[in-house]
Amino acid sequence: DGIPVVARPRMTVIGTGYLGATHAVCMAALGFDVLGVDVDAAKIARLSAGEVPFFEPGLQAMLVDALASGRLRFTQDYAEAGEFGDVHFVCVGTPQRKDSQAADLSYVYAAVDALAPHLTRRALVVGKSTVQIGTAQALTERLHATAPAGTDIELAWNPEFLREGYAVQDTLAPDRLVFGTTSAWASAQLAAAFRPVLDRGTPLVECDLATAELVKVAANSFLATKISYINAMAEVCEVTGADVNLLAKALSFDDRIGGRFLKPGLGFGGGCLPKDIRAFAARAEELGVGQAVAFLHEVDAINVRRRKRTVDLVRELAGGSLAGVRVAALGAAFKPNSDDIRDAPALDVARMLHEEGAIVQVYDPEAMDNARRTYPELTYAESMPAALHGADVVALLTEWSQFRTADPEMMGWLVAHRRIVDGRHALDADAYRAAGWDYRALGRPLLP
Ligand code: NAD
Repeated sequence: DGIPVVARPRMTVIGTGYLGATHAVCMAALGFDVLGVDVDAAKIARLSAGEVPFFEPGLQAMLVDALASGRLRFTQDYAEAGEFGDVHFVCVGTPQRKDSQAADLSYVYAAVDALAPHLTRRALVVGKSTVQIGTAQALTERLHATAPAGTDIELAWNPEFLREGYAVQDTLAPDRLVFGTTSAWASAQLAAAFRPVLDRGTPLVECDLATAELVKVAANSFLATKISYINAMAEVCEVTGADVNLLAKALSFDDRIGGRFLKPGLGFGGGCLPKDIRAFAARAEELGVGQAVAFLHEVDAINVRRRKRTVDLVRELAGGSLAGVRVAALGAAFKPNSDDIRDAPALDVARMLHEEGAIVQVYDPEAMDNARRTYPELTYAESMPAALHGADVVALLTEWSQFRTADPEMMGWLVAHRRIVDGRHALDADAYRAAGWDYRALGRPLLP
């Protein structure tokens, strides 16, 4: 439509959690002037002081550099944000609602409502949060209703695919970018905002708003389904004596299937997959296409059953009852290289063990503070050896490398009984059995 774009747009990043803080730091590293905005005063203070408030490899040093360069600042002030930005990225949380399976979109609406009155000139608002189909359309109408008269504000959707633990590399060199826009100007302005990433040859899919929203939930649904698929096979293995590890290996040589995300075990968790598939199923029902994704309820159920089955294995190893049994729970984060404990399978298992009367000692290299805050009823050990000390059963629940590489003989000296449940198929079963451990894993026969 011929309206000029800002070649090097000034950016705001609204919501500076796992996604937003990473995006803000990386955009500053790419040379843009960036203002991070959050309602959480403590978070803004820590980020401004050069401290990443969560664990993400590589991000801390980049934050310090970005602050020193003068290209990155943080604020709580939406007026400053409106004044500053040519492009505004919305990165606030979209958790599961407390009263249903649907997504709570109130933070997204609150962020846009807070920003809109301060948009005094042409600007592009870009949603990055994971939302359900139709949200972008509703936000567009809301923006137009609340932005000052005479300003040209457009909305675009740019779903985010970063993985915690790899967030920096996924932001700087993503597998692909998806731009959902409604005008040539929005598309060109978004391209300018991602120029350094596009110039690396990153594939770009340009589409409408609904497709952009759907890509993200479709991708997460596929990944969740792949994990639950192999875990469903593990359930079949458990009653047939087959070995799911060997099954997965054999399947993975078929490159139509592929080995990634085909890892059997305790299943998925975190702040994305569980809530995204539930919200997608709930939204599809509202749209009258619930049947199309009804399988996602099964994907969810398979995943939750793995947690219960892990508790069963610990109980079996303990001789049939968990009352008074000392369990070393290795891991709390939902996956290694993260301190994120949202819907963490490890802590769900630890909680169930505790509720059955086990004396659980939880240890995680990074997620202890988060875990203590959320599950104060559990007991926490200061180190891996402290957790193992005197344990009747060891449960490996998050596959941190320090757990994977631990020596079974040295671990054996610390515990009361050499019994281990490998919830992540992360250990060398033969090495453990050779060191006298009773080794169990989901979907694997009792003896090799
Ligand atoms: P998070 O909880 O770590 O961060 C959300 C931030 O938004 C918090 O700091 C919060 O204080 C802030 N916030 C809430 N309301 C606000 C408002 N009105 N104004 C300004 N700030 C506000 O969540 P996250 O993990 O970063 O996820 C954010 C979104 O990104 C979600 O939709 C999530 O599904 C999606 N996502 C996350 C990841 C990931 O790996 N974490 C990956 C892809 C997509």
